[in-house]
Amino acid sequence: MKKIQFNDLAAQYAHLKKEIDAGMADVLNGCHFISGPHVEQLEKELCAYTGMKYCVTVSSGTDALLMPLMAKNIHEGDAVFVPGFTFFATAEVVSLTGATPVFCDIDPETFMMDPESLSSQIERVLREGKLTPKAVIPVDLFGEPADYPAIEKICREHGLFVMEDAAQGFGGAINGKRACCFGDVSATSFFPAKVLGCYGDGGAIFTNDEEMYQALISIRVHGKGSYKYENVRLGLNARLDTLQAAILIPKLHALDEEIKVRNAMADRYAERLRGIVEPQRILDGYFSSFGYYTVKAKDAAQREIILTALKEQGIPSMIYYPIPLHLQKVYAPLGYQKGDLPICEDLCDRVFSLPMHGYLTREEVDQICDVIQKTVANQ
Ligand SMILES: *Cc1c(COP(=O)(O)O)cnc(C)c1O
Repeated sequence: MKKIQFNDLAAQYAHLKKEIDAGMADVLNGCHFISGPHVEQLEKELCAYTGMKYCVTVSSGTDALLMPLMAKNIHEGDAVFVPGFTFFATAEVVSLTGATPVFCDIDPETFMMDPESLSSQIERVLREGKLTPKAVIPVDLFGEPADYPAIEKICREHGLFVMEDAAQGFGGAINGKRACCFGDVSATSFFPAKVLGCYGDGGAIFTNDEEMYQALISIRVHGKGSYKYENVRLGLNARLDTLQAAILIPKLHALDEEIKVRNAMADRYAERLRGIVEPQRILDGYFSSFGYYTVKAKDAAQREIILTALKEQGIPSMIYYPIPLHLQKVYAPLGYQKGDLPICEDLCDRVFSLPMHGYLTREEVDQICDVIQKTVANQ
């Protein structure tokens, strides 16, 4: 039997080989490796897919998050609110600008930023009077968009800039409005493991704000003015390679079909694992692209037993994420203690992610669930 893959990029390539190979050959034959028609076409198609006016493709999801903060001149003394349960880059970009990340706790069922915790953290920062609240970065997790209706309301009241970290949200939606549409600006990643991934690093920024768009275009190429050798601000070298654009175009065309399969497999997991482990809750009206299928074990010991049993059967699994950001070593100087964000901490001890991709089969899901079911029954 074929070995179960956590994310089967080989199966995807076999399915899309003709289109991907043709796109790559086109770039190689044209010798146009930076910018060019493939990048322009991809940006147009990404605008059409998300419903956003402007798209700026960039070198990674991390640069996609950093650049809007640079454009907004976020700097030392500013507070930027982020969830404590996310990939490190969400907070890292805040620190790179000199600003201070302020960590918020999460909802125990959706695993994403808890609007009530956001409110209380904003109040705390205002009370302490050391930092100026400037921005919030809600994070879409495992394919599901964050609670934007509640979060955006709080941000409007406090005049805060909102950036959607859609690195994992691409393809998800709230009441038909697609991820990358939320907040003032959004950032996504095309890292190979994401729902829409290229064959290297890549990312994109979306906005409807013309001024933000112009600043991002400039920052992408060393803070250029009217042309590359006139520099009006500090920027980066943050372009998406043309080869990656050519690879992403056919993958974008196949995306909705893959997300359909991901949703069918998520339904099967939920059905088979009911009462054993608790899946991430998808809120009413929300649609997940199921970048990852993540569940909560009863406790750390049960997770350990399940992951060991899966490993023995050659079934891959991952822990997203094992350490909450406020307790990462690099942030020790910020003075957070264990117990500060109890839901984040509890989740890091209990969550794990199971194989999920657009080429997964019901038989494979059943095989995985059989192992989990038997293991928990024999506990
Ligand atoms: C992957 C990821 C990023 C960073 O994207 P890269 O392309 O790897 O730089 C940022 N935030 C979240 C939530 C992610 O999952």
